[in-house]
Order: sequence, then C-alpha cells, then structure tokens
Amino acid sequence: MNLILFGPPGAGKGTQAQRLVAERGIPQISTGDILRANRREGTALGKKAQVFMDEGLLVPDELIIEMIDARLSESDCQTGYILDGFPRTVSQAEALDGILQSRGGSIDKVVVLQVPADAIVGRIVGRRACQDCGAAYHLEFNTPKASGVCDSCGGSLYQRADDTEDKVRVRLTEYDRSTAPVAAYYGEQGVVREIDGLGSMTEIFGRLLAAIED
Ligand code: ADP
Ligand code: ADP
Ligand code: ZN
Repeated sequence: MNLILFGPPGAGKGTQAQRLVAERGIPQISTGDILRANRREGTALGKKAQVFMDEGLLVPDELIIEMIDARLSESDCQTGYILDGFPRTVSQAEALDGILQSRGGSIDKVVVLQVPADAIVGRIVGRRACQDCGAAYHLEFNTPKASGVCDSCGGSLYQRADDTEDKVRVRLTEYDRSTAPVAAYYGEQGVVREIDGLGSMTEIFGRLLAAIED
C-alpha cells in the first residue's frame, strides 16, 4: 500500500507514521529526515537545503524530486511505503505521479491530519526529536522515560533549529500557500480521507487505520 500522510507541520505525521511502520511493516519516507541526514553528513544536497530549512522555507522542488526518485527505487519500497512530508507542492505531486506511472504504481490513500494553528504552535515549540532515529517527543504531551534520551534507540533528544515560534509561523504560511493545494490535487483522484488530528495519539491512530481501510 502506498500512502501519503498529509497535514501542516506538527500535525503528527511522523508520530503516526512510526506506528504504521510497526503495524504494517512498510517504510516511512520522511523527506525532512532525509534532508537532515544529508545536512549531518555534509553532502552537496544537505548544503543546498540548509538555508531554506533554517528559514522555514520549502527546499526547491528539483532537489526534492531527485532525492525521492532515488529513495523510491530502493528495494524496501517495492511492497509499499508511507510518505511523510512529501509531496509539499503541486509540482512535487505531479512529479510523483510521473515516477509512479513509469513503475506501474499509484497512491492508494492520502490521509489528511487536521489540526488548528494554535495547537500546532504548542506542539512544535515543545517538540524534541531524536538525533539518531528521528522519533518525536514532546516536553508535555509525549515525554521520554528518561529525560533527553530516546526510548526506542537511546539517542539524544534535541530541539530542531526550525522549531521556534517565529519559524513555525513561516512554515504555516508556506503550508497554506504551497502545500494545502496538494490536497485538492489528490481530491480529484478520490483518494483523500480527512481525519481529526486532535486527541490522544492512540485515538488518532485508530482513525488513521479506519481511513486507510475505507
Ligand atoms: P515538519 O514535519 O515539522 O513539517 P519536516 O521535517 O517535514 O518538518 O521538514 C522540515 C523542513 O525540511 C521544511 O521546513 C523544508 O525546509 C524541508 N522539507 C522537507 N520536506 C520537503 C519537501 N517535500 N519539499 C520542500 N521542502 C521540504
Ligand atoms: P509532524 O511530523 O507532522 O511534523 P510530529 O509527529 O513530529 O508532527 O508531532 C509534532 C509534535 O506534536 C511532537 O512533539 C509530538 O510528540 C507531538 N504530538 C504528536 N501527536 C500528538 C497528539 N495527538 N497530541 C499531542 N501532541 C502530539
Ligand atoms: Zn531514537
């Protein structure tokens, strides 16, 4: 099954994707995580992406499309995947359709996590991410067992440089302007399911599973 988890920054896409990986055994493909790994490794892509990411702006489409094309051709993607944070522009969605068509696949569902902007800001500012596996924690809503340490891999938790209140406002503007239209693009294909992204992580996971089966 090829899925897209869609929604604004901080909607809970990564959190829900990780649960789905455990349940379905298909990989989570987070373009944000891949970009951050490239930055840590100091690759050419990481260096080009850095300025955009630090400002809360979208990284140019051509860089993202090349990166995702390479990732989707890896062997673990052949039985399905969960896209998290991609596509973020209509051009990216069109490019994805081209990639899928050339390989005989399609997107089965686009699940939209709906979370209002005021809740988003609280989630982003309190988020702490694992340096090693990318898992998301929250100072209030999802605390690790030991402070500053990832429950699943033991990695150190840190606050992303773009997880500040002013940067999240920029990211929300980018979402409204460039990313929200992607939902309408998939709406025409009849694969979009909207779910309430407020509530406990377990409640939301139940809604997600129901939306996928629908
Ligand atoms: P969040 O999940 O909090 O929205 P991400 O980790 O998905 O954040 O993305 C962090 C940053 O990486 C974005 O603000 C943007 O600069 C860049 N990025 C990630 N995915 C994409 C994409 N598909 N297109 C363009 N930029 C992207
Ligand atoms: P995204 O990948 O969409 O940017 P994350 O999964 O990283 O979002 O979640 C953003 C922040 O909100 C994290 O700190 C996470 O622990 C927290 N969070 C996720 N789901 C919920 C929820 N249902 N209720 C409260 N906080 C949540
Ligand atoms: Zn970890």
